[in-house]
Amino acid sequence: MKTFNLNSKYELTGAQISFAESVAIIGDFKESVIYSLMDRIPVFLVDEKTQEKYGEGDILGFYQDSGTILGETIPIIGICLERILNYASDDEELMFLIASVIIHEFAHAKISAFSRGVYSPRDEFYKWMEESSANFITINYFENYESDFKSPHPKKQTKYAHKTYSQTPLAFLKQFVNQQPDEYKLGLDLFQHKIWFSHIWASHKADINNRPQEKKDWLQYVQSNVGKTDKVTLNKLYEALWK
Ligand SMILES: [Zn+2]
Repeated sequence: MKTFNLNSKYELTGAQISFAESVAIIGDFKESVIYSLMDRIPVFLVDEKTQEKYGEGDILGFYQDSGTILGETIPIIGICLERILNYASDDEELMFLIASVIIHEFAHAKISAFSRGVYSPRDEFYKWMEESSANFITINYFENYESDFKSPHPKKQTKYAHKTYSQTPLAFLKQFVNQQPDEYKLGLDLFQHKIWFSHIWASHKADINNRPQEKKDWLQYVQSNVGKTDKVTLNKLYEALWK
């Protein structure tokens, strides 16, 4: 991961960087998408003012499809340690939260990479679909990281695999997401019901955008039922968006 301090008072420690990278590597299913994006997309440490300017809804970090740096237009990620610090009560939580924010922003980058430039209007539907998808991806990375951490795969073993935490990274993340705004919290429902839709959202944005009624039905249901969604109903609403 390439990190640069743009204007933050704080720096990432080596342990925080390695932990986020370990979740990206071990947490991935097979393609190492996020880990390879970490090679291409720089992560900037930014102050609150910069976060405010670029965070489209996200308050702890941001992903931008095209940031201009030194005349080059490239995707960029920002994270705001000034704010992240307020949500962690000790060093361990801080390390887990920094990794969560980084993976969440790279999840936006992953969705964007598979969207092939299809534009989506930044409406309420977009906000709910995009944020819940990014959180779904993040929680799955943490779950994979953790199952590996419980029974380490010999090929993927890292120094973290043997570490004992006072709470597991996944338990921390689930509890954190549970306190986030509803459109983020929906990611937890998707995780619990195992609704694999984030890749379909990424690859079928154009089709989905052309279904106003189905979008409306989905949005109405998730907005009034987040945290208590029914798997069968939710599955039907997701299928209606693209099938
Ligand atoms: Zn986000």
